[in-house]
Amino acid sequence: MGSGPSNPEPRVLQALATPPIAPDDPAFGALLDDVSALGRAVFQTTNACTLAVAGASRAGIEAVLASTIKPGDSVLVGVYGHFGELLCTLAARHGATVDRVEAEWGTAVNPDDMLARVRQRPPKLVALVHADTSTGILQPLEAIGRACRDTGSLFVVDAVLSLGGCELAVDAWQVDAAIGGLQKCLGGPPGLAPVTYSERFREARGQPHTTYLDLARLEATWVARQGLETAAMSTSMLVAAREALGMVIDEGIVARWERHRRASRALRSGLGAMGLELFGDPANSVPMISLVRVPDGVDESGVREQLLRQQGIEIMAAFGPLRGQVWRLGTMGTNARLASVLATLAALESVLVSRGFRLSRGAAVDAALAA
Ligand SMILES: *Cc1c(COP(=O)(O)O)cnc(C)c1O
Repeated sequence: MGSGPSNPEPRVLQALATPPIAPDDPAFGALLDDVSALGRAVFQTTNACTLAVAGASRAGIEAVLASTIKPGDSVLVGVYGHFGELLCTLAARHGATVDRVEAEWGTAVNPDDMLARVRQRPPKLVALVHADTSTGILQPLEAIGRACRDTGSLFVVDAVLSLGGCELAVDAWQVDAAIGGLQKCLGGPPGLAPVTYSERFREARGQPHTTYLDLARLEATWVARQGLETAAMSTSMLVAAREALGMVIDEGIVARWERHRRASRALRSGLGAMGLELFGDPANSVPMISLVRVPDGVDESGVREQLLRQQGIEIMAAFGPLRGQVWRLGTMGTNARLASVLATLAALESVLVSRGFRLSRGAAVDAALAA
């Protein structure tokens, strides 16, 4: 019940045991076709270039940035948490001149500030995190996508946390490139990053100082099916990704967003009834991770360790400016369900009580059930 990796779905883990498939096996092309088609459905796009980059989600983000940024290019990043910082670091590492619009941790970037900067001096690329796992905040994207289309800037979105957990409409919101991750709300293990990008983005690609993360190389395999003799891939991961993405479609994408929303609502009601205070602007909170303040006098890491050791439940610490001040509780993928929420609340309650924290026993579970 942490900030990821979340518990993988058993069906996805089983799929991971599939033996490797060589590129000249007809099943190889069929697998890529399936992952692309399912990726399009989950990203809500018709982008021909919908593929997956092997590696942690960060590999997908780096492939997207490295493949478009040339030294000296201007990149505007909205920063409201740790993963916005990561976008700045990666863009700078690949030679960009990075400009930032910042928001305090716990709030979203003001879209008007972002729009003013985009219109004033249109950057080559605008990058934003859709849902930042470090703060539990959701960033509205639609107006920024529209502005980027007007000014000719490319719009790149880190959707690692949001993909499969809350609404994300790549085409409708005019996002040029989006990156997801298997290990947050998709119910898979870390190791593969689904990526989609528009034709407009494809035309702006350059030749990066990396061959492994060169989108042109990946496109040759995924879209043009060229050079397959040397295109060995982590096919077992791709079979797992097909299973994970397929489970989103089987459940219904809207039903899945709603399930995440219900689970976080129940969890937050329970945490409130326990006397704990939620962190962050409630108007922009994400439905897959909840941040709660550590009460005065309570040992932040001691509670987490006891929860894990005694009750087998993992919740996470915070970092950056929130280090030591909040816990982060995930309701992602298979954990976005009432049973997991109730077990977590009951366990946290007993751990807090054992450490002398005064609360109304049983109130958390009742409040979660009522919500
Ligand atoms: C987890 C996460 C990442 C990084 O994912 P890795 O698979 O650990 O590389 C990037 N962005 C966001 C918003 C995340 O939640």
